[in-house]
Amino acid sequence: MFDRVFVNAVGADGQPLNLAVRDGRFASISSLGAAHPETGAAEIVDLQGHLVLPGFVDGHIHLDKSFLGDRWRPHRVAATLRERLADEKAALASAAPIAQRADALLRQAASFGTIAMRSHVDVDATTGLTHLHAVMEAREKWRGIIDIELVAFPQAGVVSCPGTADVLDAAAQEGVDVVGGIDPTTLDGDADGQLDIVFGIAQKRGVKIDIHLHEAGEQGIEQLHRIAARTRAAGLEGRVSVSHAYALGDVDADAVARIADALAAAGVSIMTNAPGDRAFPPILRLRAAGVRVFSGNDNIQDAWWPYGNGDMLQRAMLLGYRSGFYTDQELLVALDMATEAGAAVIGKRDYGLKVGNEASFVIVKAPNAAAAVAAAPAERVIVRSGQFWGESGESGESGNTPRTKFETAPAASGQRG
Ligand SMILES: [Zn+2]
Repeated sequence: MFDRVFVNAVGADGQPLNLAVRDGRFASISSLGAAHPETGAAEIVDLQGHLVLPGFVDGHIHLDKSFLGDRWRPHRVAATLRERLADEKAALASAAPIAQRADALLRQAASFGTIAMRSHVDVDATTGLTHLHAVMEAREKWRGIIDIELVAFPQAGVVSCPGTADVLDAAAQEGVDVVGGIDPTTLDGDADGQLDIVFGIAQKRGVKIDIHLHEAGEQGIEQLHRIAARTRAAGLEGRVSVSHAYALGDVDADAVARIADALAAAGVSIMTNAPGDRAFPPILRLRAAGVRVFSGNDNIQDAWWPYGNGDMLQRAMLLGYRSGFYTDQELLVALDMATEAGAAVIGKRDYGLKVGNEASFVIVKAPNAAAAVAAAPAERVIVRSGQFWGESGESGESGNTPRTKFETAPAASGQRG
C-alpha cells in the first residue's frame, strides 16, 4: 500500500512515469504498471503529463546581500573593489532587515523549484556574526522546504581585514558548514597567509572550504594549483570548492588540462554561474578530466549586479547559452550542474528520483529535461517528501500557501490507510 501515487508524469527522457510514495520516500518509480492505482494507494495525483525533475540545488547564493523584498536599488558604478565594498556596506545598512530580504528570496527560489542551497554569508571583523545569525534564523524558518548549507564568507578579505580570522573561527564553532575565502593574492596580498587560516579552520573545526576566486590568468591558475596541493596535504579531498575560478577561462587548453588533472586528483570542485561579461571555466573539458562542476545563482539584485531571480532552471539555461551547449546531452550537463552536482557538493543525502530516496521533485511543463533547460518555463510546483509545498499547512512559520493546481483524489478503489 502506497500513501500516494503521482500518475501521468513524464521523466527526463520524455517517457511516461508513475511515482509511488510511502512514508515520504519513493516506494516505486515505473514507466507504467507497478505503481498503478490497482496496486493500492490512499491517494492518486494526476500530473497531467508534466515533467518531473529532481528539486534544484543552488550551489552558490548570498542570502544576506539581495535587495529582493526591499525596494529596487539602481546599480552604482564603483571604481575599485574597496569602493564597491564600502558602497555595499552603506546600502545594506539602510536596507530592510536581512530576515525580511532573505525570506523573500527563499520564497522566490522555492517557487522556482529550489530545494537545497549553499549560502555564503558575510562574516568579517566589522559585521561580526550579525548576518550569520539572521540567515540562521531564515534557515530555521524554511527547514523542510529548502535545506540550507552556510558558508562563513570573508567578503572584505582575511589577512587584510584584521580580526576576521577569529570571526571565521567563531562562525565555524557556531555551526556553519563551510569556511570561505576570497582572492588570497589580489585582495589580501598574502596567498599563504589567507590559505593557512582557511585550511587551518577547516581542519580544526571539521568544516568544508569554498573559496571565491576571481583572480585572472596565470595568477589565478597558480592559486588553483596551490589550493589543490593544500587540499591533498590536508586530506580534505572532496571537501573543497572554488567558486568562479575565472582564470580557467583565460588560459589555453594545455594549461586547463594540467590544472584540471590537479583539481580532479584533489577532489576540488568548481562552481560557475556563467557570468555575463567574463570568460569562465570550460565546463565540458573540466568534467571530462573528472572535475565536479556545479552551479549557483550567486548575486541576485544586490550591490554587485542588478540581475537574477533565484531560478536555477534559468541558470542552467544561461550555463548552456554561454557555453554553446546545443545538443540534448549538453543541455543535460547544464541541468546536472543545477541538480545532482550541487547536491553532491553540499552532501545532500537521499537526493534524486530513485526508489528509497526522499520523494522530492519539481514539476515543470516541458516534454523532457533538455527542453526544460532550453526554455526554462516559468511555472513550477515543488513536492517535498511526497507533499506539495504548503500542503500540510502546519508550518505556518513559513507562511506557506498551497502551491498546487493538481487535484488530489482518493484512489478509485476507495482504499484508505
Ligand atoms: Zn559569491
